[in-house]
Order: sequence, then structure tokens, then C-alpha cells
Amino acid sequence: MTGSPTHKPFAAEPRLEGYVRDRFLGDDAVLARVRDRAARSGLPAIHVSPFDGKLLEVIARAAMPRTIVEIGTLAGYSGICLARALLPGGVLHTLEIDPRHAAVARESFIEAGVSERVQIYVGPAAETLSQFGDGQVDVVFVDADKEGYPDYVRWAARALRPGGVALLDNAFGWGAVADPPGDSREPSVEALDRANRLLADPDGPFRAMMIPTSEGLAMGVRV
Ligand code: SAH
Ligand code: MG
Repeated sequence: MTGSPTHKPFAAEPRLEGYVRDRFLGDDAVLARVRDRAARSGLPAIHVSPFDGKLLEVIARAAMPRTIVEIGTLAGYSGICLARALLPGGVLHTLEIDPRHAAVARESFIEAGVSERVQIYVGPAAETLSQFGDGQVDVVFVDADKEGYPDYVRWAARALRPGGVALLDNAFGWGAVADPPGDSREPSVEALDRANRLLADPDGPFRAMMIPTSEGLAMGVRV
């Protein structure tokens, strides 16, 4: 999770980035406050960008979700975006290993008015995931330990209903997924490439594509 730039450009041209910000994002005081409070609490600024947060909400909405699972809560920034996409009565289950992060996120969800629809699980994601039944999940967003991504994709293949959506953040591995495979690549990059291969496998359970955000947002629809 190191190597994320502070400014994450969205479009090829700064002019167009500004255009999209003006037309599609506008001001979002709630989300801005989450970023500020996270910084004051000493959390790393590795949230998704405002662009990617809106993208997550819009993609998730298309799945008309009742059940969303997020792996990697941090301060709740992306979680708020996802929770906004839920149908009435729907629940975001968000998994976080660090209790300090979970505590900050709890405040964020209250402030955003979504805490009734959000369940936070503190602990290693791998231990929490088994409690979700096969085919019961509408949207999965993966944004935690990169070494865990291949297992998270395999889990998502079981947990998602047909038409359900898996989204993997940082799928470009800070550019390094395009390096030749082998010893020179870090284990996190190796794992991200493996997760991308699983998602993109034409004979596998997903139909997938890479959305070229600055971090790379890999998206697979469960066939
Ligand atoms: N999705 C957030 C950012 C998540 S940063 C946002 O965009 O707002 C990654 C988070 O994953 C960190 O808070 C880290 O503590 C958590 N994490 C790392 N390994 C984990 C694991 N094995 N299980 C659950 N959470 C984990
Ligand atoms: Mg990320």
C-alpha cells in the first residue's frame, strides 16, 4: 500500500480532470471531513480518491445491492461511498484488521448518516469471510493486504450471486504489475497480478475488465 501518490490524476489531461470534478463530483462536505479526521487521527492517507469513491458508488448502484462486502475499511471513506449505493434495508459489511482504524471508521459512518446500514468486523478478513453464504453477496470491494487478493477473489467467486460485481483497488500495483514476472517483483505485486489473472481468466467465473483509474480498478462480473 506504499507508493500511492498524494495527487491521483483521474483523466489523461488535468483540464478534463477539473471538468469531471466540477460536473460529476461537486463538493462533498461529509467525505472531506472524513479525510481530515483520518489525517488528524494519524491514519495513512490511502483512501480511494474522490473520483474513485464516486465511481464505486455508481458501479455498486447498478447491482441494486442489498449486501456489499468491503475488505479494508481504514477510516470509512470508500465504505460511505458504497453504503450510499445500498437499497433500503441493505447492509455494508466492512472488514478491518486494525481496531484503531475501525474506531475512526465508526465515527465516519455516524457522521455520514449511514451507521445503521454498516456492520464493521474487526480482525483478519480471511477469518471473517467464511461467514458469508455462497451466492449471497451483490458487490465485493477489495482494498486491504495485497498478498490476500488472490484468496479474496476466489472467495468472491463463491460469495457473489450471478451478476454480482467484484472490484479490486490498486490493481495496477503502482505500475509494477506490468514488469516481467519473477524474483524482481515484490510479493504484493506478484499477488496483485495473480488476482488480476484469476479475475480475467476467460474460462473462469468472471467476465472482467480493468478500469484505468490512477490506481487501476479491476472489475469482474460474476457469470
Ligand atoms: N478502502 C479504504 C482504504 C483501505 S486501506 C478507503 O478507500 O477508504 C487498507 C486497509 O486494510 C487498512 O486499514 C488496513 O489496516 C486494512 N487491512 C490490512 N490487512 C488486512 C486484513 N488482513 N484484513 C482486514 N483488513 C486489513
Ligand atoms: Mg486502495
